[in-house]
Amino acid sequence: MRIRIVTLLLLLLVSSVVAAQTKIPAPADVLGFTPGDDRKLASWSQVVEYFQRLDQASDRLNFQTLGQTTMGQPFVMATISSPANLARLEEFKKIQDQLADPRKLGPPATRDRKAAELIRQGKTIVLITCGIHSTEVGSYLSSMLIAHRLASSTEPAIQKILDNTIILLVPSLNPDGVDIVKNWYDKTLGTPFEGTDPPELYHKYTGHDNNRDWYAFTQVETQLAVDKILNVWHPQIVHDIHQQGSFGSRLFLPPYMAPVEPNVPKEIVQGYTELGNWMAAQMRTQGFVGITTNSTYDAWTPARAYSHYHGGVRVLSETASAKIASPLTVKFDELRSREGYDPQKESPKFGPLWRGGEWKLSDITKYMTTAAFLLLDHAATNREQWLQQFYAIGKEAVRPRRPGELYGFLIENSNESAASLISILERGGVEVTVPKGGPNSKIAGPESPDTTRLVRMDQPYGAFAKALLEVQHYPNLRDATGHPIAPYDVTAHTLPLLMGVKVRPVKVPFRYSPERFQLTEKVINLDSGPQRSMPAIYHSNVPSQDEGWTKWILDSRKIPYGVLGDKELRAGVSVYKPSAGVTVKYYTILIPDQPARTLLEGYRPGSMPPELTGGLGPEGVKALRYFVETGGTLIFLNRASNFAIEQFKLPLRNVVAGLPRTDFYVPGSILGIELDTTNPIANGMPKETIAWAEDSPVFEVTNDPNASVPASNVQVIASYAVDKNPLLSGWLLGGDLIKGKAALVEVKMGKGRVILFGFRPQYRAQSLTTYPLFFNALSPR
Ligand SMILES: [Zn+2]
Repeated sequence: MRIRIVTLLLLLLVSSVVAAQTKIPAPADVLGFTPGDDRKLASWSQVVEYFQRLDQASDRLNFQTLGQTTMGQPFVMATISSPANLARLEEFKKIQDQLADPRKLGPPATRDRKAAELIRQGKTIVLITCGIHSTEVGSYLSSMLIAHRLASSTEPAIQKILDNTIILLVPSLNPDGVDIVKNWYDKTLGTPFEGTDPPELYHKYTGHDNNRDWYAFTQVETQLAVDKILNVWHPQIVHDIHQQGSFGSRLFLPPYMAPVEPNVPKEIVQGYTELGNWMAAQMRTQGFVGITTNSTYDAWTPARAYSHYHGGVRVLSETASAKIASPLTVKFDELRSREGYDPQKESPKFGPLWRGGEWKLSDITKYMTTAAFLLLDHAATNREQWLQQFYAIGKEAVRPRRPGELYGFLIENSNESAASLISILERGGVEVTVPKGGPNSKIAGPESPDTTRLVRMDQPYGAFAKALLEVQHYPNLRDATGHPIAPYDVTAHTLPLLMGVKVRPVKVPFRYSPERFQLTEKVINLDSGPQRSMPAIYHSNVPSQDEGWTKWILDSRKIPYGVLGDKELRAGVSVYKPSAGVTVKYYTILIPDQPARTLLEGYRPGSMPPELTGGLGPEGVKALRYFVETGGTLIFLNRASNFAIEQFKLPLRNVVAGLPRTDFYVPGSILGIELDTTNPIANGMPKETIAWAEDSPVFEVTNDPNASVPASNVQVIASYAVDKNPLLSGWLLGGDLIKGKAALVEVKMGKGRVILFGFRPQYRAQSLTTYPLFFNALSPR
């Protein structure tokens, strides 16, 4: 009888365990559809609810809110591993911490032995990041499929992954954008505009540039990921899941094409090469087609690759897009070449061929989930190898530098920009110290005689500091026809130039003498000062990242501004007419960087709902001209300057307009310019400064008799030196063509003025050096 009761109890227990296992909710249980179903997107609250339900039901998953996004949504992460591993997370963090920084393992002679023991015990840490680009909807949907399989499967392959890895899964690096895209998609579903991109930035300030912030750390989402995930866990592998255009390969996997930024450790290059090639080979074996490696995407800018400087490989995957969640049919002959391969031809970098046909969301989620589980399989199977490689990177980083090698950098910490630069380095895990032997090795205050700071190279993230502090020499890459190969992003990231900070490299042997940098005579004032009236920012219906960055810069300094769209400007609202004694709302209107044609025409008719098409149009041009002629100030940034030259018939010519890249090319570089410091716009600036040039116009004053104002109305405020190579960092072709030409001009028109920047003075909130030009231009006169 007693035995029977025990058996009964056991049976009950077993059945309840089985019941608990079967109660792991599938995404469809919460969403009402399966991720990948056509025309179905989940809202951010549904995603969060699904992960909360998984957390309650599964002992393999912990779900946390790490903070709040720009628009106040929860920024979340799931930690997934075996229950035994989840109980020991603090232990594994400590192992990671010591392998990342071998100085913590004691005297050098004993480190390898101690590390071997830690490598035996540790797990491969894999961070999977989804959805930074919100129109690339496949990845945040796939995150739920990945989590569900990991939480529910009894397959031995999944057990192996759970035992050997700790998976940090971020369902979206940009939760705000999930709803921005879903709302627009649902609103246009069943209309001619189904599947179009939303007519607003999918991150309030940065849009697509949110994936260009991994060293400047300006946005809260970047800060949360760096502070609360990357710096806490030091993952060996970061799998960043993206989507590309619809008419190239079906999937890109690493290795990346050249160039690789020279401070990326060789172990990282080996790691992503081996892992990416292995994943591609496995997928081909399973019948997946249209896969490219070693093409399209380079590994140059740290703005997209934090982990490459922090001991972890970045495995970017880029799956072909459909039309948001709607299927798309692509014909084989519509497939177009990208850098490094032709999707109509098999090659060592591409294959097997995808023959075209329908491409839908479930194809995308299938490619994504397959790739993710292969990556996890590799991470689990080769656990020890991944940890050894990770330790090797840390060991090389902290070794004492030999005579003749770079010892470090001295930074003059005497202004606000220097403080910003140092805080960037510190957020990236870099130790910034007071050099030994100085008069006072305690932290020096502003009145201290010695404001010098030192960044040594023999520290775990010295390479991150070096990448940001030195000048970039971008290789002059040409294709078979001699045409320049475009960088995937920009070519320069030298923070001392961008931020206006004095930095000096020093070699071994280094003996510090408190020589004192010369204190900067003029401390740059980043505030715009008291305003008599607000400036207005032009809002384009075609999303403009530069507009977003501009708003961020003003918002983060609590500088008020108005916003004027096409509708208001076409209607001539807010035009300036002080003589009539009318109270005017705006004295200054700023037009952010956008192509001239986009400004004038906006979305083409028929491509978007009618209320969004048309751009500024002739009425908008007329209103802007009236605004200037009656006393207003109009500021045009970078490419927008071409709009002003054309529409206002200014006596100016863009000397690089229409030139082929072989003749002139500046794809995001730091150039040197000279200022007329007597002009109020250059107030507070030194004679020589920088310009962030990126597809930028370069001006020449003309004597065109058809111009609307005489050439004498043009005042050149900045120009490229007559006798110097303009390039300071990055890549420039045809520099001779711009010597002596203008980079910043002011043109008097009627009672007002037009200011044309031939560069981006507030580039991605990084070019603090030229902020005074930007703010001076914005200030009313
Ligand atoms: Zn993307």
